[in-house]
Amino acid sequence: MYIKSIVASIAVAQTLVSAAAKPQDYWKSFTSSTDPNNITLPKLKQLTSNDPVAECVNYETPAQFKFVASEWPTMWETATSNGMNKSAEFTALYNSIPWSSMPNIPVRKATADGGLDFTGYDQSKDPDCWWSSSTCTKPKHPSINEDIYQCPEPDTWGLTYDDGPNCSHNAFYDYLEQQKLKASMFYIGSNVINWPYGAMRGIKDGHHLADHTWSHQLMTTLTNQEVLAELYYTQKAIKMATGVTPLHWRPAFGDVDDRVRWIATQLNLTTILWNLDTDDWAAGTSETVAAVQKHYDDFIQMGSNGTFKQSGNIVLSHEINNMTMDFAIKNLPQITKSYKNVMDVATCMNISYPYQEHTVKFPSFADYVAGNKGNTVGSNSTSSSSSSSSPSGNAKSSSGSASAANQSSSTSAGFKTVPVNGLAFAAVLTFAAALL
Ligand SMILES: [Zn+2]
Repeated sequence: MYIKSIVASIAVAQTLVSAAAKPQDYWKSFTSSTDPNNITLPKLKQLTSNDPVAECVNYETPAQFKFVASEWPTMWETATSNGMNKSAEFTALYNSIPWSSMPNIPVRKATADGGLDFTGYDQSKDPDCWWSSSTCTKPKHPSINEDIYQCPEPDTWGLTYDDGPNCSHNAFYDYLEQQKLKASMFYIGSNVINWPYGAMRGIKDGHHLADHTWSHQLMTTLTNQEVLAELYYTQKAIKMATGVTPLHWRPAFGDVDDRVRWIATQLNLTTILWNLDTDDWAAGTSETVAAVQKHYDDFIQMGSNGTFKQSGNIVLSHEINNMTMDFAIKNLPQITKSYKNVMDVATCMNISYPYQEHTVKFPSFADYVAGNKGNTVGSNSTSSSSSSSSPSGNAKSSSGSASAANQSSSTSAGFKTVPVNGLAFAAVLTFAAALL
């Protein structure tokens, strides 16, 4: 017993030491039984119906996700909730970060009505590149990843949807799949935990998945610890459901400054903003439906009037409700006519590997335009899929079945090109069994 506990202490100490040396390696401790290159979703009504009521009936969190509530923040509360600020895992990460190098920028204050209080901030000089104040995207402090806010390629519409996965997105995702359109999807951690199959659909369809925080708050008003937790637990949730850890994130309301960017940079995250905003979420509330349609009409026109002759856009739109998704479906035919290229941000930026794992490889812009739109299996898929298959005993015992492997090839839908992977298919079987 005594020896065991010493060994365990050494192991914990080594973990802490190695985490302290390289905070950017945090994602290596995440686990997932999902192979992002080989996903078969169960035939649940929630995943096939186009009736929002049927789609949004809760389903049991599948066993293979191993969701343990005590290991996660409370849904929709700041991600330090449920004791996460004191968990060994989070404390090790927090202590590994060289906070003394962080720019000296105060936590911002919110106003009584939920807006931002700019009192005392020199908005004309904007010393902290605070987007909410100035739409600044180029950090003014050192060692911070620069924002992406437009596709560099001319005549290109950067397709982005925030706030998913929404439980009632089947018709919308079906449409994107039929049209062979890939988008950057900014997922909220709490939504991923509630609707893990929705996130799996996103990776299955080849979309570019990114982090949109755990609880969707104004990030500059959160403490360092809270900002870190909001990003970290969303990364962990996306990894658990989809098998990948994003390298990109988008702040709710675009609220980011150099302090928040610096913390994101510690997690290897780059901020993606936008240069056109549809305001689709506001339709029917603070804006009329006609006003939102007018934004779409104007942006569509920009595709043919030379506005984006030199470089493209990134358009902010949402998966937040059926109205915003209907706007997307209604307008995409015109968008794809008016713009030469419509695609996710990773592809328009020529980012082959938008995830920490390098298991999924995105096509280059040139390949995509030439018609080779599918993602392919990345360089280290073997090592990652074996390390991420936690029920490996079960998986290995059934992976020898050739017929199972053949079936797996016929179930890989969409326009992705993926090889047969017996191990992953076995994991799918385990997954299906767990549902029964
Ligand atoms: Zn949002």
